[in-house]
Amino acid sequence: MFTNAIVEPARRVPVVDEPEVLVVGGGAAGIAAACAASRAGAGTVLVERHGFLGGTLTAVTLGGFCGTHGVVDDERLFRAIGGLYLDVEERLRRRDAVLPPRRHGRIIGVPYESATFKAVADELVAHHGARVRLHAHSAAVYVEEERIASVVLETRGGRVAVRPRIVVDCSGDGDVAVAAGVGFSLGDGGRTQFGSTMFRLGNVDTAVAGALGRAEIRDLLERAVTEGYDLPRTATGVHLNPLEGIVHLNVTRLRKPDGEPFDLTDPDELTAAEIEGRRQAYLYEEVFRRFVPGFGRARIVDIGATVGIRESRLVHGEKTLRESDVRGCVKPPDRIACTAWPLESHTGGRGTTWEFLPDGDWYGIPFGCLVAKGVRNLLVAGRNLSATHVAQASARVAGPCFAMGEAAGVAAAMACRRGVEPRALEVKEIQGELERQGAILTPDSGQRSGTR
Ligand SMILES: Cc1cc2nc3c(=O)[nH]c(=O)nc-3n(C[C@H](O)[C@H](O)[C@H](O)COP(=O)(O)OP(=O)(O)OC[C@H]3O[C@@H](n4cnc5c(N)ncnc54)[C@H](O)[C@@H]3O)c2cc1C
Repeated sequence: MFTNAIVEPARRVPVVDEPEVLVVGGGAAGIAAACAASRAGAGTVLVERHGFLGGTLTAVTLGGFCGTHGVVDDERLFRAIGGLYLDVEERLRRRDAVLPPRRHGRIIGVPYESATFKAVADELVAHHGARVRLHAHSAAVYVEEERIASVVLETRGGRVAVRPRIVVDCSGDGDVAVAAGVGFSLGDGGRTQFGSTMFRLGNVDTAVAGALGRAEIRDLLERAVTEGYDLPRTATGVHLNPLEGIVHLNVTRLRKPDGEPFDLTDPDELTAAEIEGRRQAYLYEEVFRRFVPGFGRARIVDIGATVGIRESRLVHGEKTLRESDVRGCVKPPDRIACTAWPLESHTGGRGTTWEFLPDGDWYGIPFGCLVAKGVRNLLVAGRNLSATHVAQASARVAGPCFAMGEAAGVAAAMACRRGVEPRALEVKEIQGELERQGAILTPDSGQRSGTR
């Protein structure tokens, strides 16, 4: 509580939109939610605080889309994510901006080019007819009778209001839900996964660098540690990019001087983390140039516009995805998305912990994880879903975020059409619509299927 404060005067805020569906946040989940809602005929507005869409995929940049496939055996994969995600892949393919799935043992990613993704996202959202407001930050939410009545946006033209029928919070940090008074959890008793600043290196001999295994890189970075480099993390892979000579590295670890993760919902800690992340990026540039084959002439060509946040506020929903659901490969009958991504934990030491699901297996995310508790016209999707700290370590990656967003968009449009609250919808109808649009609710892994 601040003791020194000012009182802002009341003011009139113009209402600029009254859409059926308002999607806040234009990352993987928000893009899919807006496209799905608009495709289903709902008047949809997508607002994004940056000047481009993509969220973590473009503002942070990633090595590849993860959680889109699962492992069958040493050679074969199965697809776990379909629907709108496939359209994204196809549009990137036409621009030569995506590579086939790349395996590092049992870790699978689909490398993509992040600058092109921004244009593809514009194209996709326009194709489905959603209206976009960029440079628009949701700054306040007004709730009347347990419903969000208006969302106030901070824009270059001042504050404006939107009065939607349904809101989908895809901000990644639960900004809308929390402002509306919905409960949330933050990490394991406040301690979240570590964030990372991402960067790309150019001038890399990719024939040499691309052949390095994760264990080999780890040994080389551990050698740098023994020679005096204070590296917070040595577990990483080299992510090839569709562009020649460029690789993406996910290797920094945003820790405070006491070794603990920053609270990336705290403005002062977020500022310190941004600065620390850039410092580490250049430290790793030096270490890779000195110690890792193929990187002798490498230089940083870009650093994410913002730190990467793996985990922040997890919004409380009607249902919660739990560790036992992921570990047990539970396939709930009311699932609206599924994935086979492991529990990937960035929580301590210089390593990353990977706990893989059995080959050929996967789990489902129930619709209730998208239905915010206590506010009648609010859905959430993406990395701020209703999940426990451990379960989110799997469900947070881009593939399931696309799928959750698509499901939330379908549900939001259906709720508008029927004039009911999202939680009153028959999940079977949402599932039917998702499957008609090519979403995968039962992956064909050639093995286990059915409900468990
Ligand atoms: C360092 C790091 C590495 C990762 N590596 C991978 C990987 O290799 N592969 C993979 O698949 N996944 C990876 N992930 C996870 C994954 O990328 C993300 O969890 C996923 O993309 C999240 O999508 P999202 O749409 O839920 O949220 P985000 O991508 O965070 O999108 C949220 C969007 O909302 C906007 N926003 C936020 N608040 C507001 C507001 N108040 N008003 C308006 N707009 C707002 C943001 O600007 C952003 O565009 C990684 C994550 C991190 C942090």
